[in-house]
Amino acid sequence: MLKVIRKKSDLKEAVGSFKQKGKTIGLVPTMGALHSGHLSLVELSHSQYDVTVVSIFVNPTQFNNKEDLDKYPRSEESDINLLSKTSCDLVFIPSADEMYASTPLIKLDFGYLENIMEGKFRPGHFNGVGLVVAKLLGLTEPNGAFFGQKDIQQFRVISALVKDLDIPVKLHMAPIVREMSGLAMSSRNERLNDEQKSTASNLFKSLQIAAKLITSGNSLEKAKKEAFEFLGQLKNIELEYFEIVDFETLQNIPSVNKGEQLVLCLAAHIGGIRLIDNIVIEL
Ligand code: AMP
Repeated sequence: MLKVIRKKSDLKEAVGSFKQKGKTIGLVPTMGALHSGHLSLVELSHSQYDVTVVSIFVNPTQFNNKEDLDKYPRSEESDINLLSKTSCDLVFIPSADEMYASTPLIKLDFGYLENIMEGKFRPGHFNGVGLVVAKLLGLTEPNGAFFGQKDIQQFRVISALVKDLDIPVKLHMAPIVREMSGLAMSSRNERLNDEQKSTASNLFKSLQIAAKLITSGNSLEKAKKEAFEFLGQLKNIELEYFEIVDFETLQNIPSVNKGEQLVLCLAAHIGGIRLIDNIVIEL
């Protein structure tokens, strides 16, 4: 049965008692307003670890925009209800005061990852992500932790955190779960009306257009140009960035070579709501 935990000390105790019984722990950090993308992470964790811990915390330190934080969807009751029908064992839902008993003195800087894409357009965002994930890893000391490919740059940041600090946890990247229209599932989609949702499905289409051009031998410049043109003719989409980068490093690639893995990443605003998506291709 799902156990709801709100205090850090209770989380440590509950996880500790599972560990004493020799159980392995999988952690799935989320900000709630759960959808099928989140639930796929829960099932993946359940398939690999004995106990699955989900955290739900809208982390204030990772929002660089107050309006985005205020308007972020929150649906605790239905989240708990949803999780109770999954393989989740413990859900940790701390208050901001519980999570941050005092203002952290520490600041995390992820080097070049701060200057590209999400890092560039959301200054301070990865400091907040790093802080909260480090806290969650410290509190649960899980064997594995699950994150979505949708936030691929976040995954690279967390990989750096874990590697640079020798945190003993295996990180798992889960594939992107999409709506039928191709729109990547996101808690922020709840804020889109039907028309905006249908406009938003063009984001994935633009990634597919560019991906197809690259895999059929066209240059990255051409692929990017076509994607820009496709999105440019649509009303109500404000593109923030569209980058084609190396899958591992997320850095620009001078030329395209066979066997290389690339990721096409974008961020756009639709009706004031910021959405991101990406697609991975192998040449
Ligand atoms: P969030 O609640 O948006 O912070 O997301 C929590 C975790 O779920 C992150 O690791 C996300 O990358 C992942 N996630 C969000 N959307 C999706 C999706 N559509 N498919 C798979 N994973 C997702």
